Amino acid sequence: MPIEFESRDGALVWIRNPFTGVISYIVDLRDKSFAFTLGGRSFAPPPGTHSDQERMARALAACPFCVGNESKAPSEVMRLTPADIAGWDGDAAAPWTIRVFNNLFPRIPAELTGGRNESYVVVEDSRHFLPGARLPSELMFTGALGQAHFIRLMEVNAEIIGRALLNPGVASVVVRKNQGPESGASQPHVHQQIIGSPVCLPAVEGELRAAQSDPRIWDDLIALMRRMNLTIDDGPDVVSYASPIGAFPRSYDVVMPHYRALLCQLDSAGIAAFAAAIHRILRFIGSIPLDYEIHQADGLPLHAHINVRRFPYSNVAGTLNLPQGIFETVSALRRMRNDG
Ligand SMILES: [Zn+2]
Ligand SMILES: [Zn+2]
Repeated sequence: MPIEFESRDGALVWIRNPFTGVISYIVDLRDKSFAFTLGGRSFAPPPGTHSDQERMARALAACPFCVGNESKAPSEVMRLTPADIAGWDGDAAAPWTIRVFNNLFPRIPAELTGGRNESYVVVEDSRHFLPGARLPSELMFTGALGQAHFIRLMEVNAEIIGRALLNPGVASVVVRKNQGPESGASQPHVHQQIIGSPVCLPAVEGELRAAQSDPRIWDDLIALMRRMNLTIDDGPDVVSYASPIGAFPRSYDVVMPHYRALLCQLDSAGIAAFAAAIHRILRFIGSIPLDYEIHQADGLPLHAHINVRRFPYSNVAGTLNLPQGIFETVSALRRMRNDG
């Protein structure tokens, strides 16, 4: 079935997500008040005060993901050191840069995956705060990591996915990131999750079912994004675009249309290309709350969905409102790509 949408005078009016059925309407919201719009966190710091310093020290002391507090988390699965990440600009004497351990609160109960906890936390950087931070709100975030660091992080993800799949009780693995409390993150320290599931995860299962009934669905989707001038990366291996069919109004997809297998089976050049396309978008979004998920299955193009909490609209009865002009980020992202 072709992707359902309607455009007038070259502008998209509505489009239906072919996997979920949700309809996005592009609407004129210029006169609407955005008093609750997110991302308004000020990074123009007033002079630091003693109490800010105290609050920051307290945050570090209490954080289960910080250096020195390793014993507050379950036992370690993997760690990388400063020498493992080219160009890491933190303290060269830091005991680790990226660290993986089981999630104290598994997303899926361990008894459903052969008695083994297959939920992992990947702490993306040992630094809690941004370099030079003077306020408790100046947290490290994924887009502030260097590109080489993010590629290394993706390699770690691949390794942990491979490890989870060694468990015969695991059928499907997802990588999930929450940035900011508005996206559901419970800890401020920069981290992501990897979750092994005993059954194909429902979101992935829906995409697989759609691809089985219409093998051209991803090709058609990408062709439509090209026609609508929404693509950012458009190489032979990786395509990214501002998505009009995301879970939130401002969304991006990064897709490897010809690679229909798992991240842990992808070669290092492929991982680097996939990670670089995701990293560019995350760097552009900055510290605004967001989530991303990496979806993978045999027969499904490897892809990531990135959802930004820039606009506070949510799904209402299977419909989503996208403000006109929401795709204006595409040209800025293309410029970033061209600038390297
Ligand atoms: Zn921390
Ligand atoms: Zn997906």
